Amino acid sequence: MAKRYGNLIGGKWITQGSKGTLENRNPANDREIVGIFPQSGIKEVNAAVSAAKKAFEKWRLVPAPKRGEIIKRAGDLMVKYKEELAKLETREMGKILDETRGDVQEGIDTAYYMAGEGRRMFGDTVPCELPNKTGFSIRQPVGVCGMITPWNFPMAIPTWKAFPALVCGNTVVIKPATDTPATVVRLGEILEEAGLPPGCFNIICGSGSGVGAPLCEHPDVRAISFTGSTNVGAQIAEVCGRLNKKVSLEMGGKNAQIVMDDADLDLALQGALWGAFGTSGQRCTATSRLILHKKIAKKFIAMLVKEASKLRVGNGLDAKTQMGPIVNESAMKGILEYIRIGKEEDKATLALGGKQLKRGNHAKGWFLEPTIFTGVTHKMRIFWEEIFGPVLSVIEVKSFDEAIERINQSHFGLSSSIYTRDVNRAFAAIRDIEAGITYINGPTIGAEIQLPFGGVKGTGNGHRESSHTVLDMFTEWKSVYVDFSGQLQRAQIDTE
Ligand code: NAP
Ligand code: MG
Repeated sequence: MAKRYGNLIGGKWITQGSKGTLENRNPANDREIVGIFPQSGIKEVNAAVSAAKKAFEKWRLVPAPKRGEIIKRAGDLMVKYKEELAKLETREMGKILDETRGDVQEGIDTAYYMAGEGRRMFGDTVPCELPNKTGFSIRQPVGVCGMITPWNFPMAIPTWKAFPALVCGNTVVIKPATDTPATVVRLGEILEEAGLPPGCFNIICGSGSGVGAPLCEHPDVRAISFTGSTNVGAQIAEVCGRLNKKVSLEMGGKNAQIVMDDADLDLALQGALWGAFGTSGQRCTATSRLILHKKIAKKFIAMLVKEASKLRVGNGLDAKTQMGPIVNESAMKGILEYIRIGKEEDKATLALGGKQLKRGNHAKGWFLEPTIFTGVTHKMRIFWEEIFGPVLSVIEVKSFDEAIERINQSHFGLSSSIYTRDVNRAFAAIRDIEAGITYINGPTIGAEIQLPFGGVKGTGNGHRESSHTVLDMFTEWKSVYVDFSGQLQRAQIDTE
């Protein structure tokens, strides 16, 4: 019998769902059920929001350093359980153990960073224009925060949102992705074990329309933090706009790596392989376009195809595997459709892969060959559209200026990278690339939590996760004026 997991509402685990159950399957072995989860709806959303609202009244009064200590303990527990968490994550979403260990580590890093914010959360203290008067600003919690998360970083993304929100004094209702609820359930257990009071962190499992949408609509939810696709993000933005809620959106990407003619080609090759095929290309920051200077293109493509063809695709729990499965059948179908489109597009050449792997070790899961298209131009759909799989489009350019023009030809603006030994070009690229993240001589993936994470253009709506910048999402500023003159002093008027 597969293990049954519950929703977490006001400190109680409830396995019953008002809409039945949902099965969480292993994408490397579709017959393996990782767990059975409640399929929930508006009833559970209402119960969780009401528990979170009640808990907020006490939690907001707990001193921030104390709140930080609880998050620190959650980080310590994640260190203790790291291996178990990584294995669970690999079983529920497929990526290889090295990567799920990294995903858990990102949660640990966030816990320790945000625990420290409990003792910082800096505001400003400023001089006032009138005598015997002082001014300062403080951060205050927003209230009940709703969180809607994707399946590709089942631990990192929920912790990026929940840990700062909790340290700031908010309470949380989270809806995990249908493909990966188990990791978030473990996070809930860890927060409980760390001593978080009941009702501060609530989990409601279920579908986007059944749970995510009513969570956004609920009048007592003051803020929504969403990571996922651009389509769903746009719907959420409309609801939050209409209801005047704070909303942060982290959405799609079509990230590119540039390799200039003066680059260290071996280094750039390692970057391209890791950026394009890590997590089977299912990262928001994955390299999905490779922009090569014409002078090195032929040589680099030969190197790339040779190395990519050697990547071992398989079950992420096997230590020898370098690339795990695609998350589910419908994602597989979507990627295969893009491969079909790429094959039909003018002048694009399928240089490697393109086929689903269905035999032997691959028979039970959703496996795809690492895929490379060469001869791609900015007139093609595989140049513009997010594929979210191990499919790399290679574009050739004649100059640095053309490389910058191509990289910026995107509706998205999350991550970017350039390999060059020319410091002037590197700094011009930092200035001119339209993206939230630029790597110099590194792949498009590899963000660290002490710098802001997020994108421009179609990727985001101006908010950032990670670093102290995330606090802007989970707090409201209050400006405080203390007048100790004992008389009415009129700002801008009594200034003589
Ligand atoms: P998705 O379909 O947008 O799902 C994301 C979350 O939204 C899931 O929990 C989903 O629930 C929920 N959802 C779906 N419809 C909803 C609705 N109408 N109202 C409220 N919630 C709804 O995205 P995905 O396919 O899981 O993830 C891949 C996408 O996420 C890619 O586009 C990728 O670029 C993006 N992503 C971006 C970042 C970033 O930081 N920029 C990071 C990771 C991923 P269900 O799971 O139940 O459908
Ligand atoms: Mg799953």
